[in-house]
Amino acid sequence: MREIEYLIIGAGPTGLGAATRLEEKKRDWCLLETENHFGGLATSFVDEQGFTWDLGGHVQFSHYETFDRYMKQALGEDGWLTHQRESWVWIRKRFVPYPFQNNLHRLDAQERWAAVEGLLEAHEQEGKTKPGNFEEWMLATFGRGITELFMHPYNFKVWAYPPHTMAYNWIGERVAVPKLGGVLKSVCTGLDEVSWGPNAVFQFPKYGGTGAIWKSIGEKLPADKVKLGMPVERIDPQAKKVITAGGEEIAYRYLINTIPLNKLIEMTSGVVEEEVAGKLVFSGTNVVGVGLEGQPPQHLEKKCWMYFPENNSPYYRITVFSNYSPNNCPKPGEQWSLMTETAESPAKPVRHDSLVEETLLALEEDGLIPDPGKIVSVTNRHIEQGYPTPFLGRDNIVDPVLRAFEDVDIYSRGRFGAWKYEVANQDHSFAQGYECVDRLTSGGGAECEPTLHEPGLVNSRRNP
Ligand SMILES: Cc1cc2nc3c(=O)[nH]c(=O)nc-3n(C[C@H](O)[C@H](O)[C@H](O)COP(=O)(O)OP(=O)(O)OC[C@H]3O[C@@H](n4cnc5c(N)ncnc54)[C@H](O)[C@@H]3O)c2cc1C
Repeated sequence: MREIEYLIIGAGPTGLGAATRLEEKKRDWCLLETENHFGGLATSFVDEQGFTWDLGGHVQFSHYETFDRYMKQALGEDGWLTHQRESWVWIRKRFVPYPFQNNLHRLDAQERWAAVEGLLEAHEQEGKTKPGNFEEWMLATFGRGITELFMHPYNFKVWAYPPHTMAYNWIGERVAVPKLGGVLKSVCTGLDEVSWGPNAVFQFPKYGGTGAIWKSIGEKLPADKVKLGMPVERIDPQAKKVITAGGEEIAYRYLINTIPLNKLIEMTSGVVEEEVAGKLVFSGTNVVGVGLEGQPPQHLEKKCWMYFPENNSPYYRITVFSNYSPNNCPKPGEQWSLMTETAESPAKPVRHDSLVEETLLALEEDGLIPDPGKIVSVTNRHIEQGYPTPFLGRDNIVDPVLRAFEDVDIYSRGRFGAWKYEVANQDHSFAQGYECVDRLTSGGGAECEPTLHEPGLVNSRRNP
């Protein structure tokens, strides 16, 4: 039986962060990945017509100078396109710039007043009670008007769970919180505020979609230490070995796991009760991509992505993917593309057999595809686990599970490996793998892993 000091499961951003750091530190390591490619959820693929797609809209935004360095190394200085973020909300048959509350002037008078009235009421109640869940947080922060019009329906569509079943400690920088002044400014001046918040400018690979980044990072690692197409089937924590689907046994000193925690529990006997796996709440994501001949309609020319809170459409978000890079189309400049995302869960099932049809109908109804005759490609991908839901009581379940695994030298990290949505983007995931290695190789403790243990601190960093 082979023996490895550091064995990594999964070649997504987390596993690649760990492998990159181990290689820098000249340690004995090996990575096992079930697929024949790098990238995990941050993979891209090319459809039969030659259009490139991500698995949902991926935008690069980094909280770490270290991460930026690896991104530059991955694609070079010239490998990126830089964009000014323009995100919009489609509501009442019109576009309202995001953040919604700072652009209320685009609504009818009645709705404007409902929004302002709700916000004033919320201000009067400020600090009197602590919200018990995400829905109560919305009402306390946005007021009833904006919550009913936008926040509640949108968040149900994106999370696929009722907001009263969710926590709100993940929010940090992720939701634009209204300031009364900003709201009133919009109502009084009628001026748009388009680029809010942390990722007002973002970068995207010139070629190959998001997956090009992770392909490049993976291919820089020594090929003999990376085993693609080698799924792990079982872990024996007592004997400290993994058993692959092909029956190979590999012993480890430390195991860095990046596959979903529910699956880790199921394949590892004797560490955590198997029923705990079923308590970890998640949603699936369906990505429908539509490639078209010609140019996007003028109103989509500069838009990056759009939010859809209303019920006429299955999707919660659409990315104008050809705006990220014209090379996402096989004939750049002569074609364009839209990528839709639809969430699903037991609380919000999706009919897979009719999703494409419903999506195309809604795209027409929402004015995004003026001429369906120009469609040259339609692609559809289902992602079983897309979003690790910040469900109520999450930390009381997840944290003891992570500790129980650490007691037997299994470190579970990453988007679903550690199940913390607030630190589940690509930069966070890469950092979780990287920091975990720093911890293990230095003999330090949790303080070596700020991303996992201090998400608020990491997310409050402004990286110029
Ligand atoms: C719809 C959507 C939109 C997103 N948007 C953004 C965004 O805008 N910006 C951003 O930064 N991030 C975004 N993300 C998040 C990004 O995709 C993740 O941060 C990242 O992929 C997580 O990396 P990971 O390595 O933790 O997990 P994963 O990417 O899930 O990697 C896990 C790896 O483990 C492998 N594996 C699974 N089972 C086994 C097994 N038994 N044996 C061996 N290998 C196995 C998988 O094949 C996979 O390669 C988005 C994700 C989704 C789903």
